[in-house]
Amino acid sequence: MEGIVTKSTGSWYTVCTKAGERVECRLKGKFRIKGIKSTNPVTVGDKVSFEFETDKATGVINRIFDRKNYIIRKSVNLSKQTHIIASNIDIAFLLVTIDSPPTFAGFIDRFLATAEAYNIPAVLLFNKLDSYDDDQLDKLATFDAIYTEIGYKCIAISATKKIGIEEVKELMIGKTTMFSGHSGVGKSTLINAIEPSLNLKTAEISKQHKQGQHTTTFAEMFELNFGGFIIDTPGIKGFGVVDFKPEEITDYFPEFFRLKSKCKFNNCLHINEPKCAIKDAIESGEIAYSRYNSYLQMVEGEEEHYRTDIYS
Ligand code: GDP
Ligand code: ZN
Repeated sequence: MEGIVTKSTGSWYTVCTKAGERVECRLKGKFRIKGIKSTNPVTVGDKVSFEFETDKATGVINRIFDRKNYIIRKSVNLSKQTHIIASNIDIAFLLVTIDSPPTFAGFIDRFLATAEAYNIPAVLLFNKLDSYDDDQLDKLATFDAIYTEIGYKCIAISATKKIGIEEVKELMIGKTTMFSGHSGVGKSTLINAIEPSLNLKTAEISKQHKQGQHTTTFAEMFELNFGGFIIDTPGIKGFGVVDFKPEEITDYFPEFFRLKSKCKFNNCLHINEPKCAIKDAIESGEIAYSRYNSYLQMVEGEEEHYRTDIYS
């Protein structure tokens, strides 16, 4: 039997089969995956095969299929040990609001770079479209142009007025997706608009996550009536922090990556080096200055990236 792990308690795993059956499974003996040192061998999103126990009610997982991607969280108390939060994510949606709360370009860019590093396709959803004045709509158009140009899908939506929801749903059919964004950008409202039956559950889980800071929390996947899953992660704001090495950040900014072979030095950090294709592209307007600004802040390892904006 094969299925996808939708929930984990650390010792029991709920496996959802193609036929929609849910089977509680365990692991037997030592189960390790090559190359990954993590506190949990099986995670939500894993595609697994299992055998039924003699009781015919529960199962034993005997194989984990290769993950196409996974997101991790460093364990605070067990140094160097990582906890895998979820795997096989098809789309990471980032909800962005121009105002109430403002989402800064630096935050968006770090999210996108992290998604690139994790190998997860990202989509930007500009929410609260119904509430913006002309200046804010201008700003939204600027964001949209910057990110569309470099290859990210952008959709302007209103979760409350149900604008753009069908387009979002369309992308989600048969996929495993997750939603991130600052608190108050409208994640719960959007999930409710997409599938009302899910809302209560996600609200409950989020509350548990807020309260249970000290307990180990696991992600959970919810099945959508129209096919596919939503992953609810503990601390839904982003997806964990990747410690970027300065020299690899270029690879996670797609428009930089495309040009980097044209820099004179192949270890160019695009800061003070001569004959730098990235700096030339900024000069010519081909690369947005806000993107370069975010890049610099990440190279310098600054945590104040929330403050950078497209107009700063
Ligand atoms: P979350 O913290 O990301 O889950 O955000 P919520 O879904 O709780 O929404 C925060 C607030 O923003 C609530 O008062 C919502 O009613 C409001 N909100 C959500 N979506 C929209 C929208 O599209 N337009 C407007 N005007 N308000 C919205
Ligand atoms: Zn360069």
